[in-house]
Amino acid sequence: MKDQFEREISYLRVSVTDRCNLRCQYCMPAEGVCKLAREDVLSYEEILEIVSAAAELGITKVRVTGGEPLVRPGVPELCARIGALPGIREVSVTTNGVLLERYAQELKEAGVRRVNVSLDTMNPEKYRTITGGGELSMVLAGVRAAAEAGLRPLKLNAVLIGGFNDDEIEAFVELTRDQDIQLRFIELMPLGPGAAFGPEAYLPGDTVLARVPELEPEAEDGGVARLYRLPGGKGKVGLIAPVNRHFCSTCNRLRLTSEGHLKPCLHSAQEVPLRGLHGAALREAVAEAIRQKPAAHGDLTLGHASEAGRAMNTIGG
Ligand code: SAM
Ligand code: SF4
Repeated sequence: MKDQFEREISYLRVSVTDRCNLRCQYCMPAEGVCKLAREDVLSYEEILEIVSAAAELGITKVRVTGGEPLVRPGVPELCARIGALPGIREVSVTTNGVLLERYAQELKEAGVRRVNVSLDTMNPEKYRTITGGGELSMVLAGVRAAAEAGLRPLKLNAVLIGGFNDDEIEAFVELTRDQDIQLRFIELMPLGPGAAFGPEAYLPGDTVLARVPELEPEAEDGGVARLYRLPGGKGKVGLIAPVNRHFCSTCNRLRLTSEGHLKPCLHSAQEVPLRGLHGAALREAVAEAIRQKPAAHGDLTLGHASEAGRAMNTIGG
């Protein structure tokens, strides 16, 4: 279905849990997380009913995310059931990778095409700091397992944080020389705890091009990412710049929160509650969310934080 700005809405991101086994400084509130009660989180049956209604309105791609999706038992089976719904052509997963070694093969067998793994630093100490205690070696084992299981192309997502990992830009880009991966730098967004970072932390995506001038633009459409490649490199480098070069005019996505609210825009407080709706009423509510999708999000700056009203772990980043 098209929204009122002629954008074909075809992509749904589903947060299957607000819980996580990490505490990334820009994502999870430092004062502790107010976890949803189990009964407040959508059941898999409810998620399938909602995705099915969304598919009837033109959703073809679903990304399972969270929180950390792999902490919820049964995610591979959920992915298989989503993929079997009429109209759904692709199911993918975004994960921090900590449990990926255990689940990569199961995900592949469930029909998941590819996974995005979030990884902000290749330094074990820094990884522990930014994630509140995470073990880098577990993520690297997960990345290897994903490659071995054939979950391709593998995308690694690094949030670019000035003063934290900008000294690793060159090393990250270098990974794409010999490996067929897409290494994507994402601008830090003033959203949730991310809004508390100092001005030096907010680096424009173009910083990567200034640091590695030999990167050449790729003709391929990378969706929300502008794509580049090192001369002769096997992999690609993607720049995702929601703050400095937002991509609202081509945004085709909706987000389903873990408690069943449909968000037409990540950076708006607008939400359409879906829980308890069925059949035609559910379809109409999903259509209403598509109609409510704003033309663009407002400025995202330090003085003007996101109006999402929630941290990423509950929205499904
Ligand atoms: N736990 C999974 C993971 O980390 O990949 C999936 C959910 S996480 C909320 C999805 C993505 O949102 C991650 O890549 C994370 O880095 C990103 N994210 C969270 N808060 C952010 C912020 N304030 N600015 C930019 N990216 C953010
Ligand atoms: Fe967890 Fe992902 Fe948020 Fe990090 S970014 S705290 S891994 S949900």
